[in-house]
Amino acid sequence: MSSFSVKSIDLRSDTVTRPVPAMLDAMARAPVGDDVYGEDPTVNRLEQSLAGRLGFAQGLFVPSGTMSNLLGLMAHCDRGEEYIVGQQAHTYKYEGGGAAVLGSIQPQPLEVQADGSLDLAQVVAAIKPDDFHFARTRLLALENTMQGKVLPLGYLAEARRLTQAHGLSLHLDGARLYNAAVKLGVEAREITRHFDSVSVCLSKGLGAPVGSVLCGSADLIGRARRLRKMVGGGMRQAGILAAAGLYALDHQVERLAEDHANAQQLASGLAELGYRVEPVQTNMVYVDMGSQSEAFRLFAAEQGVLVTASSRLRLVTHLDVSRSQIEQAVAVFAGFRRSMHDENP
Ligand SMILES: *Cc1c(COP(=O)(O)O)cnc(C)c1O
Repeated sequence: MSSFSVKSIDLRSDTVTRPVPAMLDAMARAPVGDDVYGEDPTVNRLEQSLAGRLGFAQGLFVPSGTMSNLLGLMAHCDRGEEYIVGQQAHTYKYEGGGAAVLGSIQPQPLEVQADGSLDLAQVVAAIKPDDFHFARTRLLALENTMQGKVLPLGYLAEARRLTQAHGLSLHLDGARLYNAAVKLGVEAREITRHFDSVSVCLSKGLGAPVGSVLCGSADLIGRARRLRKMVGGGMRQAGILAAAGLYALDHQVERLAEDHANAQQLASGLAELGYRVEPVQTNMVYVDMGSQSEAFRLFAAEQGVLVTASSRLRLVTHLDVSRSQIEQAVAVFAGFRRSMHDENP
């Protein structure tokens, strides 16, 4: 059986979840229509429902978080304008340069701080004066959670004040917005109220198979809707997918706390074994394995535990990882420790 089988413990990402039977049921029963004509009742319900929950006028259902962020950036910024963004942010580093390629928008990346935020003094310093030598700075884009870290509400309020004072808009890549809200114990709108637009992934921890929603003002979403068609994101009977998102929002938000508890459990198990583990806030565990990352990845894959290895190991908990599988994963780390010790006694 391949290590990518259903039986494996897949800690690579929270994107790997499969729809639960009740979600599949909701999808099968969803009333649908042609969403490019605006006639899919389930898509309309998802867009209105999520926008309402997050305190925005409108929402727009799109196939991916990458498209949602792209449309957000392009709806805020014209050609030759600029957004300030984290050097390690998804909207800068992991979206194929889409804002630059498709939007002719210039990124101004800044190093992300240890707590996942951007230093607001550095943000202010990066805002270009009104001078024809410079691109026009239009937008600040934040990410929450950022590599599993939650941005404090006070920080968001500060970012809002600053962007208002400088005439910038504020976009949130909220791929894992609900992990942040559950961790803080607040309604998601306590986070999103500080932003002009928010992109939310339904296909990460929320457990839907496909889809993201961009939320914002009627004007912004109107522009984004035009852009969505342009980039080929207009879908037809998409209510089948939107139904999964609605199911996820109704049934799979509170349970994110279980993923967070599992991540804590995993982190403390690894720390007890002597591994260097970064403090865990939500559903991501980072382990500094030095030069052993790749060796561990291969070792673990043979035992059906899948992880992402770069300079650090990343382990992500989600709907399809149970507490007992967390214990099994810890046992694989223990086995790796022993095997290294046997090689170099
Ligand atoms: C996954 C992710 C996205 C978008 O993801 P898609 O794979 O395009 O749906 C955006 N931002 C962050 C932080 C993400 O983790």
